[in-house]
Amino acid sequence: MTEAPRQLTLEQWDLRYLQLEQAGLAHPSYVGPLSRHLAEGDLRLTKLRYDDSPAALRLWNFLLTEEDRLHEARRRGKRIVGTMKDLGTIPVMAYSLGDLVAFYPDGAWWTPCVMENSTGLLDIADSMGIDESFCPVRAMLGAFVTCEHFPIPDLLTCSVGATCDDFSAIAQRLEGLGHRILWWEVPHRRHPEEGEDAVRLPGGFLAPKGLVAFVESELRRVGRALEDLAGRSLDEARLRAGIARTNRIRQCLADLRDLAYTVDPCPMPALEMLIAEMLAIHFCSDQDECLAVLEDLLAEVRERVIAGIGVSGPGAVRVFWVNPVADLRVMNLLEQCGARVCGTDYLFAHALDLIPEDRPAMEALAMQALADPMVGPAFDRASRIRQDIARFRSEAVVVCRIPGASHCAWEGRIIQEVLHQDMDIPIVEIEVPPVSDSVAATLRTRLEALVETVRQRRPR
Ligand code: SF4
Repeated sequence: MTEAPRQLTLEQWDLRYLQLEQAGLAHPSYVGPLSRHLAEGDLRLTKLRYDDSPAALRLWNFLLTEEDRLHEARRRGKRIVGTMKDLGTIPVMAYSLGDLVAFYPDGAWWTPCVMENSTGLLDIADSMGIDESFCPVRAMLGAFVTCEHFPIPDLLTCSVGATCDDFSAIAQRLEGLGHRILWWEVPHRRHPEEGEDAVRLPGGFLAPKGLVAFVESELRRVGRALEDLAGRSLDEARLRAGIARTNRIRQCLADLRDLAYTVDPCPMPALEMLIAEMLAIHFCSDQDECLAVLEDLLAEVRERVIAGIGVSGPGAVRVFWVNPVADLRVMNLLEQCGARVCGTDYLFAHALDLIPEDRPAMEALAMQALADPMVGPAFDRASRIRQDIARFRSEAVVVCRIPGASHCAWEGRIIQEVLHQDMDIPIVEIEVPPVSDSVAATLRTRLEALVETVRQRRPR
């Protein structure tokens, strides 16, 4: 009988890694014992619990070696594009051109957590007037100042318009430091007026056709800058092929989410699934390897589903999770409280949707950019969450507030309002700082109370 998976400490994983090596585990060159990342300052790794599969080991190593990959790409003469804020659109164009590598400097969002505030990135942002009234993305400013995390990109792009105040203020401050930014606009996604030509976007929102055309023209402008950088044209065939490659990754993730968020017992922990979802936005700087990593994870999940084994006991409380968690450790905590994740909105649901392949490529990309749940009314985002809750049969909702984030002040109330129109589902709001140890007891109590509430409501 196949053994049930376990969640391991860092030390336990190192031991298991040695055993796997001795048994002849074949893996790509970037895979190694996880504890080697401690030497780079990733101190939070000692506090996390990890899935014990080789597929999860590969996933973690892929994530934690991204900076090495970016520096290596620069050494090999590839041009680097820092894409900011749009979460899932410009990288599709950049990777369609072949010789460009795109990444999100916004990813520094997690550095204070992963390095347990040891790098001073937030202090640097503070000293520049971007204090804790802004969300953790302000760490990105510090990363640009110290140049110690990612290589300074050859081209920086940033979406503006329907963007949170936090990001626009921080990106403007960045430009003030001398980093030239190619701004492109995503307008607020309004509802079409009566009789106005409308388009159904990936994910289901409706938008006026004119807005799609406007975003398409903005993307063409960004496309010209990318072409100049790459020295080749981003023609229809290239972009179509790039979209098809992206969709293969998105389809793999969709299959993974379908199993991980529906099958009981849960076949893959919430933390590894969060990382898998994050790969969708820029493929962690290597599109081909990204697909291989996700396919590995999907194969592992399929095996577990067939064997009927999972990481939590059967019947764990099914939670829909809203917003990424600033401290990764809290995803472990949720499971330790007797729950599991069944459905997510980590602020980039549009990066999980398939991009239409039956339209001109740039128009299709504009449609996916406008499908961003954060560029339209919060009520629309809440409606999409409601649909996903029904699809994944979630029994409770955690709205995870991000410290300082401008949208977090009111979105919990709106989500509650929309869900409670026709759903009787318990919702809890928690706020998680990048290192949550000081509030761990409070968080545990609130999550346990949610779990208890759901259990009491289940039919006996
Ligand atoms: S406020 Fe929210 S949407 Fe804006 S950068 Fe921060 S986490 Fe992202």
